[in-house]
Amino acid sequence: MSIRQRLYPEPGQVVGLVEHCHHARFVYNIGLEQRAMWRRDKHVRGDRSAAKVTTSTQMRELAQLRGELDWLRAGSSSVQQAALRDLDRAFTNFYAGRARYPQFKERNDREGGFVIRDLTVHRLNRKWGVVTVPKVGAVRFRISRLWADVEAASSARVTRRNGRWHIAFTTPTAPKIKASTGAVVGIDRGVKNTLATSEGRMVQAPSLTAAEQARFLALQQHLTRQRNGSRRRRRTLDRLAVLRRRLEDRRTDWVEQTTTDLAHTYDLLAVEDLRVPNMVRRPVPKPDPAQPGVFVPNGARAKATLNRAILASVWGRFLTRLEHKMPEGAVVRVDPKNTSCTCAACGHCAPGNRESQAAFECEACGHQAHADTNAAVNILARGLSTIPEESGYTAGHEARQQPSGRKAAVNGRISPTATSAAGNANQPAA
Ligand SMILES: [Zn+2]
Repeated sequence: MSIRQRLYPEPGQVVGLVEHCHHARFVYNIGLEQRAMWRRDKHVRGDRSAAKVTTSTQMRELAQLRGELDWLRAGSSSVQQAALRDLDRAFTNFYAGRARYPQFKERNDREGGFVIRDLTVHRLNRKWGVVTVPKVGAVRFRISRLWADVEAASSARVTRRNGRWHIAFTTPTAPKIKASTGAVVGIDRGVKNTLATSEGRMVQAPSLTAAEQARFLALQQHLTRQRNGSRRRRRTLDRLAVLRRRLEDRRTDWVEQTTTDLAHTYDLLAVEDLRVPNMVRRPVPKPDPAQPGVFVPNGARAKATLNRAILASVWGRFLTRLEHKMPEGAVVRVDPKNTSCTCAACGHCAPGNRESQAAFECEACGHQAHADTNAAVNILARGLSTIPEESGYTAGHEARQQPSGRKAAVNGRISPTATSAAGNANQPAA
């Protein structure tokens, strides 16, 4: 978790901060290039003689490079080393399936960042704190979160965007939550319902409102017509950044709340494995004759693409936080192949089972369910099949554990505030 605070450098400090951004980017990119070359030699050319590139070999070479380049030596070695550790983390996340392959950081005079380790912070008064930045000195930031959390941080990332500086303090990971309810659940992810549980609960992640989305797309359109480096283009970028920021805050809250709720409610959670690309498995929705002209055709597609991109990143963060919060092994990842067209009651698998985006009706046994719930039940069954029987978990277990009286979600409608599970009306009788 990180705590993001606004940083207010003095005008004289900005130059030093900008330098750190440039150095961090430079070192990161060189390190990435080096790793990419090594991977190419090893995997493509089959040359295994090349010495492995690791953080420690790169640290040594950074020291050499600093010996050769005066301007790099003038910068902070700890900031530059942190950039290499940053790169290492990016690769770790990539190999773990949590992130895409690390990308080069483009030279950008509006955006940038670097990491500070061995953090020193102190509090000036109720509203202001200072953080010590190597070679720059004490930089003020506005305190808007619990000071104890800021103080507990061991590192921080300083970022610049559109002339504003922020500092994100990395706080120690939260203690694991152990539900001890014996309850298990399967979760399907989707575009319409961000999450659908095997118990019939549907949850939507916050997105941009329809008006904000329209604005976002319009701004992107403007951008294509504006000259690089022009003042208008800069203003458009600022406006886009505001929308991104707003969305980011909403999503962070949602991910934190939802994962905490789930960790408190369930002992075992089966989810689709992110490493298997599956976001495009949904059938293309047919045009809705009941609502003609709601969007122009291209606008609708652009919105759908935007939404998909938004959800893809939410899902990744959701999984990461869930695994942070739940005990080891409590989150089981399963292969999502065919989970959406397989009947949860009889196992019959056919594309024709999916009557529409939302409705599932089995061609073999006639089982009907919300399509997302059906998929979530399949995911749960797969998850349970991968763990030893003596663990005592069985599908449908949660039905006995959960308090009754909650309104079952049958047609994708459920109060998003319901934290406990709904009834499992959509589940087949055992
Ligand atoms: Zn069936």
